[in-house]
Amino acid sequence: MESILVLMHVEPDGTLGKPALEALTAARAFKQFLAGSTLASGLVGADAGGAARQIGSCGAERFLAVAGEAYGVPRYATDAAAAEALVRASGATLVVAASTSRWARCLAGVAQRLDGRIDTHITGAAVSGGKPVVSRWYYRQRMEAVLQRTHRPWFLLTDVGCHEPWKGEAADVEVQSVQAGTASRTRFAEYRAPQAGEQTIRPDAELLFVAGAGWTKKQADGKVHHEEAADLILNFVRKTQSSLGSSKSLVDLSGEGQAVLPFLSHLNQVGQTGSTPRHPKGLATCCHGEEPHVVGWRFIHERRAINLDANCGWAQGKADVLYVADAFEVMRRLNEKL
Ligand SMILES: Cc1cc2nc3c(=O)[nH]c(=O)nc-3n(C[C@H](O)[C@H](O)[C@H](O)COP(=O)(O)OP(=O)(O)OC[C@H]3O[C@@H](n4cnc5c(N)ncnc54)[C@H](O)[C@@H]3O)c2cc1C
Repeated sequence: MESILVLMHVEPDGTLGKPALEALTAARAFKQFLAGSTLASGLVGADAGGAARQIGSCGAERFLAVAGEAYGVPRYATDAAAAEALVRASGATLVVAASTSRWARCLAGVAQRLDGRIDTHITGAAVSGGKPVVSRWYYRQRMEAVLQRTHRPWFLLTDVGCHEPWKGEAADVEVQSVQAGTASRTRFAEYRAPQAGEQTIRPDAELLFVAGAGWTKKQADGKVHHEEAADLILNFVRKTQSSLGSSKSLVDLSGEGQAVLPFLSHLNQVGQTGSTPRHPKGLATCCHGEEPHVVGWRFIHERRAINLDANCGWAQGKADVLYVADAFEVMRRLNEKL
């Protein structure tokens, strides 16, 4: 009989964020299909009252909280102490948490303290043969594995964007306060965003727009058109609020200090040595669609590409639709329509 605990940290405004609500969906899926299992929620934050009310109707039998000023900020020592205390208090055998920077940083250590095991990058939670099973991808998203473990407690970090965030009515619940240590030599100073300037990476966008190195190549008139390329790309991304991805070739050019698209950095790179974003749709432009790039499109549901070359990689079964066309021309017209 599994005792399930979903760990959630409270955001600075006192609510639970989308990743926490996604982890709750995963935990509820276990509870629904594991006969005789119980579900407890474990909240960590400066004040957990509002967050407990927010998920009051989620079906958890117990609402446990480690609350206080010390737990309102991200810090290994206090986050780990809170998580450890919540696992002990709940007697959890399965611990589910979203892969936020806070939990991803400390839960491996907590698993170690409790002689547990941890699996990360979980993309699916299910039950098979009466046992919990989880899925995750290996080798840069090329192979999907389904895992089971007999060892308990079993910690699971769910990747963000893989489960629907839980939705339901707020309800008053009784919150059981759990004590944890606050000792730490680390003082939280402030949040610093990694990216300066305009934000172009939007994980929640409907569309991923990928720019490839073709934007910087000589065009039919024998000239390069960097400035127009930058205008077309940024205009489109602003108008559609899409997320901007790039091929490696293009960000490498930018990194060499050449006067190419200066708003691109390695953070935008999609692919084997870049990111594997999750968006319902993707549009690749001036990008050849080679395997090391396309492997980063694993979780893009509908894929389209614009390329002058009818034999580019996208045409080899990698895109749903390939427009054999000049991307400058297409994007110019598309931006006019937008
Ligand atoms: C170990 C390893 C890891 C790698 N990891 C990654 C990775 O993570 N991500 C990644 O992206 N790559 C990665 N690569 C590199 C990858 O193999 C390709 O070299 C790279 O993706 C090519 O980038 P590109 O398609 O933008 O450029 P190019 O190959 O130069 O293609 C440019 C394309 O633009 C088209 N084009 C030009 N002008 C126009 C126009 N006006 N309209 C329409 N189309 C036009 C051309 O037809 C061409 O197909 C990796 C390679 C290795 C070896």
